[in-house]
Amino acid sequence: MKFEQYNISPLIKKSLEELDFKKPTDIQYKAIPSILKGDDVLGIAQTGTGKTAAFAIPVLHLLLRRSHHNTRKQVKCLVMVPTRELALQIAKVFKEIGKHTGLKILGLVGGVEQAPQIKKLEQGVDILIATPGRMFDLVSQKYIDLSRVDVLVLDEADHMLDLGFIKDIQDVMRYLPPRHQTLFFSATIDDRIKDLAYSVVRNPIRIQISPKDPVSKNVNHSVAHMSMDDKRFFLERFIKEYPEQKILVFVRTKVRAERVFAAMQRVNLPTLTMHGDKEQADRLKVMSEFRNGKVKVLIATDVSARGIDIPGVDFVVNYDLPDLPENYVHRVGRTGRGVSKGRAVSFCSPEEQPLLDAIQQYIGKPVSVMQIDKEDYLETITFTEDTPNDNWQLLLDEAEKEEAQRRKKKKK
Ligand code: ADP
Ligand code: MG
Repeated sequence: MKFEQYNISPLIKKSLEELDFKKPTDIQYKAIPSILKGDDVLGIAQTGTGKTAAFAIPVLHLLLRRSHHNTRKQVKCLVMVPTRELALQIAKVFKEIGKHTGLKILGLVGGVEQAPQIKKLEQGVDILIATPGRMFDLVSQKYIDLSRVDVLVLDEADHMLDLGFIKDIQDVMRYLPPRHQTLFFSATIDDRIKDLAYSVVRNPIRIQISPKDPVSKNVNHSVAHMSMDDKRFFLERFIKEYPEQKILVFVRTKVRAERVFAAMQRVNLPTLTMHGDKEQADRLKVMSEFRNGKVKVLIATDVSARGIDIPGVDFVVNYDLPDLPENYVHRVGRTGRGVSKGRAVSFCSPEEQPLLDAIQQYIGKPVSVMQIDKEDYLETITFTEDTPNDNWQLLLDEAEKEEAQRRKKKKK
């Protein structure tokens, strides 16, 4: 079935055509009719399968149908998300799909001036996409009225319902009218989170696409074993081997991000960093430089792991393995989006083996191993323009010893 045949406003069909969205993805096909009917929906589908439009299309249609009632400039749909980048990205999708609808859409995030946001709110906003902090600020200052919200959307729902955000969700419920529609969307979910979702709404319709393997089939992912100290040489080699590719590198902490950045700088490889300590203006600049390919390598913490849709990310490198197994799925899911294919490789040091075990258990199968033979390993750590570390000497010694033994054997 094509979007043309859908019973949705022609104003929406027009923009879908402009976006070249011809037919719905699986999750869109299954979720859109239920949402249009007014059901509460828990939609679970792998990364990159078009979950944003799965809620944006029907929400825009519903609001358009009811928009003549919205004379008092109150928010009709609230979308809550965990990060600023994601809020702005989803706002962009709503704006693109809602381009011809006349509905007012605002992405509301912290770290920037309030005044322009307040001005927009005063002009009236139909669809608000927000991270909790700034939103609660403006709610308490009475710039945002949530008492007429018809639809609440929680994207990255498992994260939003988990520790850290659950209280925000419970708080927001108090501002909403008793009758409203709730939509949860997520790529990963477990029983505990499912229970939490069911505690928020009575009977959500659960729509789940390919639950067995949470990693999208468009992503070819593997693990390479190496020592912690050698990771930077492997990254250097990797970047140099694929100079034309867009590479997203995940590290465990902000400090590690800056360190890896410095290590790449020493060998003349320009990279960008992205983490929670950066000013909002910097964060925007970094994302745009990476998006448009001005700099091809981005080193990021898990703030960029969820939901971010950057077209054309060819490789994801897990420079450090994630502490939470579900973040593995979110990280590798930054590549292979839509119909494109992607690759991911994880650098696993012996200390990180327990994290790898947890990931394999979570995804229900082993991650294939990228074999690096001794020669290749040696070549990689000698190939660097940087000063190699002690490991290098140790390995050389070892290799020499082996060589000597082989020679001895031959003589005998
Ligand atoms: P998810 O939230 O499931 O990870 P997104 O909503 O970010 O995925 O969508 C991933 C990509 O797929 C986006 O670049 C989006 O433009 C594209 N996309 C979504 N729906 C369609 C469609 N029906 N046809 C073509 N491309 C689509
Ligand atoms: Mg998403």
